[in-house]
Amino acid sequence: MEKDTVVNIKIEKAETSKINEVDFSNLSFGSVFTDHMFICDFKNGSWQEPTIIPYQKLSMDPSAKVFHYGQAVFEGMKAYKDDQDEVWLFRPDENFHRINKSSARLAMPEFPEEYFFDGLNQLLKLDKQWIKKGFGNSLYIRPFVIATETGVSASPSTEYKFIIICSPAQAYYAGEVRVKIADHYSRSASGGFGFAKAAGNYAGQFYPTSLANKEGFQQVIWTDSNTHEYLEEAGTMNVFFRIGDKLITCPTSDRILDGVTRKSVIQVAKDLGIQVDIRPIKVVEIIEAAKNNQLKEIFGSGTAAVINPILGFGYKGDKWELPKLEDSYASTIKNTILGIQYNTIEDKYGWRVKVD
Ligand SMILES: *Cc1c(COP(=O)(O)O)cnc(C)c1O
Repeated sequence: MEKDTVVNIKIEKAETSKINEVDFSNLSFGSVFTDHMFICDFKNGSWQEPTIIPYQKLSMDPSAKVFHYGQAVFEGMKAYKDDQDEVWLFRPDENFHRINKSSARLAMPEFPEEYFFDGLNQLLKLDKQWIKKGFGNSLYIRPFVIATETGVSASPSTEYKFIIICSPAQAYYAGEVRVKIADHYSRSASGGFGFAKAAGNYAGQFYPTSLANKEGFQQVIWTDSNTHEYLEEAGTMNVFFRIGDKLITCPTSDRILDGVTRKSVIQVAKDLGIQVDIRPIKVVEIIEAAKNNQLKEIFGSGTAAVINPILGFGYKGDKWELPKLEDSYASTIKNTILGIQYNTIEDKYGWRVKVD
């Protein structure tokens, strides 16, 4: 990474590596972790000396605030290895700024930029052999911050841990995805913290999503909490609709997570000559388009899968299936972004950032 190494990170290496116990051809997403983790404590009003230590359990007091009030935020990003064994990140500045934006909303202290990038760089160098070459293979990186102060009074913690753990991942295939458009439950509300990658935003979705699962939908597309008339986003993905030859996605707001993949999709699509409209989208509009055979594609965008095609949707008991396309926008845009991530095509945007 281009950032200068100025931070003194204490590194304690793992005595032995677990890597030989891992079947890299049969990974289930986010279940195996690398040999090391980055960890930095906040106390007495400042971030303490950052360290990298062997991946291990945390020991915490049961009264720590994170357990009671969910004061916790996270990020999701990936490292990729190209054919020359070089390791790359994709727009990591975006993740850095977003975790601090999330933290600020949860009354948590912002993390220093040099700590973030130096820590990540050192950690990736140590665990480099966990990143496998080949399209689809990557290292999923999970930075997160938790409130560790003891005591169950409902107030912001004065102590935190910032941690980065890493998990090897294969091409993410979510299976066939059909979505339920929310008509009752909400993921976020105006003035709330839907824009933050805050733990509670996900906990609150599990129950309504499990109800949708019972109806045969894998995910929910959330609608605005006031009227349930406008389409917003999915559980961990922003959503795009293709009506005719136009790609439409809703604007970001305080209810919506401002996805790095979303903004990359918008840019790449425009440069491919696709018209992209960023505007509120009514549920009735896509139902009309589906009826007139003008609704060509729906897809989600997010770090895990880049782009996840959505095959059908349900709304208030009715169901629609989308056509199967040969040359979908989803696959063209996805291939361009993957090419940038894996260093197989030119990156005219400067999104690809080398790890040392
Ligand atoms: C993480 C996330 C996304 C996608 O963001 P990316 O930066 O593209 O990975 C979209 N919506 C929600 C709710 C998310 O948590």
